[in-house]
Amino acid sequence: MDLDLLQRTLDDGGEPAFRSRQVWAWAAHGASGYEGMTDLPLALRARLDERVPFSTLALEHESHASDGTVKALFRTHDGHPVEAVLMRYRDGRRSVCLSSQSGCPLTCTFCATGSMRFHSNLTASEILDQALHFRRSEDVDHGVFMGMGEPMLNLDAVLAACARLPDAGITHRRTTISTVGWVPGIRRLTEVGPPVRLALSLHAADDALRSQLMPVNDRYPLAEVLEACREHHSERRRKVFVEYVMLAGVNDRYEQALALAQALDPHAFKVNLIPYNPTGAYEGSSREAIAAFGAVLEEHGVRATVRLTRGRDIEAACGQLAAGAAV
Ligand code: SAH
Repeated sequence: MDLDLLQRTLDDGGEPAFRSRQVWAWAAHGASGYEGMTDLPLALRARLDERVPFSTLALEHESHASDGTVKALFRTHDGHPVEAVLMRYRDGRRSVCLSSQSGCPLTCTFCATGSMRFHSNLTASEILDQALHFRRSEDVDHGVFMGMGEPMLNLDAVLAACARLPDAGITHRRTTISTVGWVPGIRRLTEVGPPVRLALSLHAADDALRSQLMPVNDRYPLAEVLEACREHHSERRRKVFVEYVMLAGVNDRYEQALALAQALDPHAFKVNLIPYNPTGAYEGSSREAIAAFGAVLEEHGVRATVRLTRGRDIEAACGQLAAGAAV
């Protein structure tokens, strides 16, 4: 729900200060409307129902993948598309993948979101409502800002959302913010952010190739990005997770694994190799090529894991969120 509008409505009605906390506590615990908020006067519940829509997002469509992943497509009140994903893991983890923007202004060549139009920054309430949508059907305990958009380009709203996610079951330590390497955002997160995990989408360890894959690298080249991440690690004492999408014949060769291992301080970084999810632009590396690449990293002391692919059959996997590309 729009928490500013909620506050204004409560203030206008002369309600005591604790009311907004009561309403938020119900919402964060998965309430599906005002009517069940039994510690609120009936008249107030009715007034809120009239004046403050329970969610800032209208659900347009929900897809269910065979692996249990759920993708929701929403519209903001001004009609912008937003997607969020719930990932269910065998060990019981329930992770929500949140969007920070509708569309994305960056143009990474392998990412479907990058090829759709950029619409808008989301508000903190629009970010939280993605998580609350899933929270209404089950407990959730992890959050990743890996949906549509670049969180560092909307950091105020992302941090405001992070501040409330623990109330919905997602602690800071179980929250990850992923970035293309937007250096001012990384620095700000280091200075003022809560103890969330930082993840860096790296994808290449040399500037020429990285700029080709991710034009943002021209603005913030590798050395600068890696330096900002090293500082983050030394201030925060938490490893930065490097994401590296595996593209056949592009960034998956032996020398490229060596260069990556050399670029990363094993104390500060851990690598997550991501199987490429088809978006039409590239061929993904084979399972064997990914394993061999990871083995080179490990031989050089850099921890490397392969990310489980989730929700590919409903285009809910990393890099596939494009709101049906119809927009
Ligand atoms: N803009 C931020 C947040 C999005 S995270 C960022 O880029 O970090 C989405 C992750 O999925 C990023 O690591 C991105 O590089 C990766 N990704 C994008 N397209 C992909 C694809 N087709 N297959 C696999 N991973 C992809």
